[in-house]
Amino acid sequence: MDKQKIILEKIKEWGASEVGFSYLGDVLPESLQDLKYGISVLIKLSDRIINEIDDKPTYTYFHHYRSVNTLIDQITLKTVLLLEKWGYNALAVPASQSIKELGEYRGLFQHKTAATMAGLGWIGKNGLLVTEKYGPRVRLGTVLTDFELEPGTPISESKCGECNLCVTSCPAMALHGRLWEAGIDRKEIVDAHACSEYMNKNFKHIGRGSVCGICIRVCPYGIKI
Ligand code: SF4
Ligand code: SF4
Repeated sequence: MDKQKIILEKIKEWGASEVGFSYLGDVLPESLQDLKYGISVLIKLSDRIINEIDDKPTYTYFHHYRSVNTLIDQITLKTVLLLEKWGYNALAVPASQSIKELGEYRGLFQHKTAATMAGLGWIGKNGLLVTEKYGPRVRLGTVLTDFELEPGTPISESKCGECNLCVTSCPAMALHGRLWEAGIDRKEIVDAHACSEYMNKNFKHIGRGSVCGICIRVCPYGIKI
């Protein structure tokens, strides 16, 4: 079996709902240019838990959010160890990370960029990855590697259309209602500062001010009838 297929099967066996492969050479910062290929790990969130979110997050959602992040970090670590065993270089981007030096609420590399380039979904008006199958009810991880992968077909256009549900539901009025296209700055879609401020002010007692979930719960792509 070829190595890419082994990676795909292993990651699914370890618990991922979807796996995507991408070429990131055109979008990586200089410091990561030695690892031009991306492996996106997607975990679907629990419908029961997301459906319980109303005008605020729940304690259970906060726990779930952190559990899924831990699972993602374990899967991406295992993937790195497998790639290193085969003699390749690889780096797991933490599931949830905010590096002050990189600017507002940014991690080492944007999971969502890798996921759109792998063809897993588009960026919704909520600023989150939206997939056909699960809507935005997903969490993401990314492994960067120098192992040459066959990439998926990138998605470069939004499928939100006229929908505005997340925009009108956001209590922080942090969403601008702008349709995403590849390359657009996140600031055009979401005011990350307003979102974070609102969560810190209103949900500190529930999720330490780091989760909300309203714009995830309302998305029709994620609501199963
Ligand atoms: S997480 Fe909450 S506050 Fe932030 S954009 Fe979504 S709905 Fe608005
Ligand atoms: S709620 Fe509507 S506008 Fe918002 S991400 Fe989902 S489909 Fe897009």
